[in-house]
Amino acid sequence: MSIYIGNHLSSSGGFLAMGKEALRLGADTFAFFTRNPRGGAAKEIKEEDAKALEEFIKAHNFGRLVAHAPYTMNVCAAKEDIKEFSRQMLKEDIIRMEYVPGNYYNFHPGSHVGQGAEAAIPMIADAINNAIIPNQTTTILLETMAGKGSEVGRSFEEIKAIIDLVDKDGYVGVCLDTCHVWDGGYDWSAGIDSVLDEFDRIIGLNRLKAVHLNDSLNVCGSHKDRHARIGEGQIGEEILKSIVNNPRLQGKPFILETPNDDEGYMREISMIKEWNGKNII
Ligand code: FE
Ligand code: FE
Ligand code: ZN
Repeated sequence: MSIYIGNHLSSSGGFLAMGKEALRLGADTFAFFTRNPRGGAAKEIKEEDAKALEEFIKAHNFGRLVAHAPYTMNVCAAKEDIKEFSRQMLKEDIIRMEYVPGNYYNFHPGSHVGQGAEAAIPMIADAINNAIIPNQTTTILLETMAGKGSEVGRSFEEIKAIIDLVDKDGYVGVCLDTCHVWDGGYDWSAGIDSVLDEFDRIIGLNRLKAVHLNDSLNVCGSHKDRHARIGEGQIGEEILKSIVNNPRLQGKPFILETPNDDEGYMREISMIKEWNGKNII
C-alpha cells in the first residue's frame, strides 16, 4: 500500500475541473475549499458536475478527497453572530459534501478568543452534533493546530476532548498537519513513531484519516504556523520522507499546503511519489 498525494485546488471551475487539474499535476487526491476561504460565500453545486467528478476519481483510482472549511469559520467564537453563522456553514457544508459521497471535510476546531479552551470545546462538539445528518457518508475531520493565538486543538488532548463530546460515533476523525503538530511541540526528530504512539495513546490511530504534509519555517514548539516547502524548513527532508513512508500512514490522503505554484506542486508530488515507491504517471 502507498499514500495518496495531492494539493489544494481552486474550486472556481467546478468539481470535474478539479479532478482533471489534479491528474495534470500528477496527483491522486486533492483538497478544495467548500466556499470562499476568507469570506464564506458558497457557489451552487451542479449535480451533474458532482456526479462527473465521482466517476472521474473512481476511474483514476483517487484516494479520498479532503475538503477544507473556510478560515473564517469559528464555531466557538465569542461573538454570537459569528458563532451562529459558522454553525450554519458547517451544517450546510456537510449537506453539500454529500453531493460527492464518501470524502473528508476538514475544519479548524476554532479560536476561543479569550473564553478558554475549556469553554470552547463543548461549543465545537455541539456544532458538530448539530451538523451531523443520519447516515452521512462524509467524515468530519478536526485539524491538529499549531496553537497560534487562542487556537483550540493545539494538543492531542484538546482534540480528544472534542471527540469525546460528539454524540454519534463514526462520523469524526482527525487530519494531522505535520507543520502544526511540530509547531505545537510534537518533535518529529525524536522519531515518527513516538509522535504517532502519543497520538494513538491519546486519540487512537483509528481516528487518523488524513495528513497535511508541510515543512515548517519555525522550530518545534514555536506555535507560529508558517508553512515551508518540503525539505526547505525546520522539519527537513529526511523526517518528512520518513513520515510519508511510515507503515501506519499508508493508504491515507496526504495534502500539500506548501507555498508553491503549479510547477512547484508538480515537482513535490512527483518527488513524494518517488519517495513512496509509487509509479509516476
Ligand atoms: Fe487547515
Ligand atoms: Fe493544514
Ligand atoms: Zn497551517
